[in-house]
Amino acid sequence: MAGARSGKQIASKSEDFDRWYVDVVRRAELADYAPVKGCMVIRPYGYALWERTRDALDAMIKRTGHENMYFPLLIPESYLAKEAEHVEGFAPEVFWVTQGGTRQLEERLAIRPTSETIICSMYADWIHSWRDLPVLINQWCNVARWEKRTRLFLRTAEFLWQEGHTFHATDEEAAAEVDTMLDCYRELAEEWLAMPVIKGRKTESEKFAGARYTLSIEAMMSDGWALQAGTSHHLAQNFTTAYGIRYSDRDNALQHPFQTSWGLSTRIIGGLIMAHGDEAGLVIPPRVAPIQVVVVPITRSDDDEAARIDEACSRIEREVPADVRVRVDRREAMRPGEKFAHWELRGVPVRITVGAKDLVEGNVTLVRRFDGEQTVVPLEGLGARLQSLLDEVQLAMRARAQGLLDQRSVDVQTLDDLVAAFTEQPVFASGPFCNRAECEQAVKASVHALTIRNLRSDRSSDGAPCVACREPAEFVALMARAY
Ligand SMILES: [Zn+2]
Repeated sequence: MAGARSGKQIASKSEDFDRWYVDVVRRAELADYAPVKGCMVIRPYGYALWERTRDALDAMIKRTGHENMYFPLLIPESYLAKEAEHVEGFAPEVFWVTQGGTRQLEERLAIRPTSETIICSMYADWIHSWRDLPVLINQWCNVARWEKRTRLFLRTAEFLWQEGHTFHATDEEAAAEVDTMLDCYRELAEEWLAMPVIKGRKTESEKFAGARYTLSIEAMMSDGWALQAGTSHHLAQNFTTAYGIRYSDRDNALQHPFQTSWGLSTRIIGGLIMAHGDEAGLVIPPRVAPIQVVVVPITRSDDDEAARIDEACSRIEREVPADVRVRVDRREAMRPGEKFAHWELRGVPVRITVGAKDLVEGNVTLVRRFDGEQTVVPLEGLGARLQSLLDEVQLAMRARAQGLLDQRSVDVQTLDDLVAAFTEQPVFASGPFCNRAECEQAVKASVHALTIRNLRSDRSSDGAPCVACREPAEFVALMARAY
């Protein structure tokens, strides 16, 4: 069995999910701990996975009319301090630079935890007229936030992300932008990473510091826990007022523009690992897999056969379309079984085994990583069929993740229902909710480590009584344990 072979390298997923996760990240050579606590080194295979994900999202960001630019890493303290809620929200997480060389700085510099403050400060000089709007920009960068408890990819003191920032003439246009970008995140999660998500609005206590409201997508991990995979914020005029951004409208009256920001980070790689991984390690959806197909020759001592097998491998290499990422594993010092385990652990979607026995019939053996399905197929024309085979795997992985989400989603009407829903295993519970802070506390207190993920945008409560206070509720809350 696949699991048994690589079982020596990683902890059992069903017995110790947390250790399994860290083992997969490290043994599959995605990332490792860095000397500074909470920081990580992203290794080439992990970085290639991030690059695929990043490129897909970058294309969507550009498709929806945004341009990339770059702001500096360091932000003067006085800039950060202008929006009161924002500075209060981020104060516990900011890293400060107090010295340049041997000289004490006159003003402390923050290492950006996010860039609204410096972007607003600059755009205050650049936005003058209604003709300057909308501003639609994005930057790919690193940010740093002090974290007490860290976990590779999921929560690190420094991480990579994109942060989009936009300014608009009207409230409605800003609201539409917030929706558009959340939908890009949904598209990335569902169509590229094969992770179905639930869209909704964060509660008051969970929204971005300084925002009017925050939307999120929430994905289910294979242990039934939730992962917030992207957020999009309507900032209204909170920052543009605090930072003095004004423009003259068509009637020559001075106005503060409406603003949005939205971000998605390397955290989503952690989500991909936990959503699809199994006892043998990573399982990567084909669209983002750095290597989509690995070809393993089964060669023995007979030179004659070795040459024939190698020629078959080369033929596959030659015949695959240029956009299929294929690797022939010709390493001589490794046995085929070791190679299988090596690529299984790394989650390569399809493996082709080329052996003498199959070749006599003109065939090779093909194995799908996500479900282990094994088929003997003709070598003739294989290259041309690989793309449709990868597309099939992509769709089947998403369908399987959707199946898990459906199977572990329950509707609840009361706090007792909620407690009952969590007695056997973690689930996604949905129930009517009034969106008051007291009721959020009551929900959290009813089940260990439970949180309200979001107020679902796809469901309506029809005035049913709130799970906690029994008053008529406006929303349906998604309640789950979360990473
Ligand atoms: Zn309530």
